[in-house]
Amino acid sequence: MHILVTGGAGFIGANLCRALLKRGDEVTVIDNLYTGKRENIEDLPLRFIEGDICDRALMQQKFSPDLVHFDGVMNLACPASPPAYQAQPIETLLTGSVGTANTLEVARAHKARYLITSTSEIYGEPTVHPQTEEYRGNVNTVGPRSMYDEAKRFSEAMTTAYAETYGISTAIVRIFNTYGPFMQPDDGRVITNFPNQALYGTPLTIYGDGSQTRSFCYVDDLVGGLLAMFDSAERGPINLGNPQEITIRELTDFVQTVTGRPCQICFKPLPGDDPTRRCPDIAKANKLLQWQPHTPLKDGLTATWEWFQR
Ligand code: UDP
Repeated sequence: MHILVTGGAGFIGANLCRALLKRGDEVTVIDNLYTGKRENIEDLPLRFIEGDICDRALMQQKFSPDLVHFDGVMNLACPASPPAYQAQPIETLLTGSVGTANTLEVARAHKARYLITSTSEIYGEPTVHPQTEEYRGNVNTVGPRSMYDEAKRFSEAMTTAYAETYGISTAIVRIFNTYGPFMQPDDGRVITNFPNQALYGTPLTIYGDGSQTRSFCYVDDLVGGLLAMFDSAERGPINLGNPQEITIRELTDFVQTVTGRPCQICFKPLPGDDPTRRCPDIAKANKLLQWQPHTPLKDGLTATWEWFQR
């Protein structure tokens, strides 16, 4: 199959491209390199276009069915780290809205299967634990995360509208916290900051008191879920994540064990609207896709640490 991967030079995109190529698919990537890096994929035999999915003229020109045929469109293009999307709030909202529509237009023109990577952030500050797909969320529409949360909520609605209006085959996945090789060391997320801080011998920065929880999924497991969803006929939305919930304070222990470096810890203010708890219910992915993550946090962190050191 020939797959268009938007955001293919980013963290998850670079891992996904490798998996697609490994199984024999042909890959075209479009990425504006805002958070992606060309070097993440420059060793791969794929076609790369530097450009923005919000640029409809570019998309129509480069991806005209007269020039190329796609069997699938996997839309990963969007900054996903809070500091990155907060630095470009308007662009993030346009990526989720205009950009999503443009990528859906490509899927429509090619009669291709379409997958959109939504997020656990659409649950906002959840009041249901663990979060099931039926839970409708608790998002602050004008808060410091609203540009990302609402962009992704809109992209789910737009994807649904295209499926209903044009009958294209669509898939919505909601990705929970993911980590692994090809994360950008400066992206500001907790599993980039902590290994980075351990590497340079600076204190691990806990925001708030560290009692907030997350559930971290190793990227290889996540990519397996993306492919399983893409290969199925399921429409979703389906949660993809690791249901092992830990506090950020506990994460500092894991990082120190894995790196073998005792670290100092310092506390910084908790950013606004930082979710208190987050943990996926993955029963649906398990039942419909026979998918579940396998990598224990310690093993995944070890691989990530090795990558950071390199
Ligand atoms: N966090 C932290 N120290 C850091 C970076 C993040 O304590 O150096 C916290 C952050 O406040 C949040 C959690 O770790 O509660 C996960 O943050 P991240 O930015 O990785 O992703 P989020 O799930 O918030 O989008």
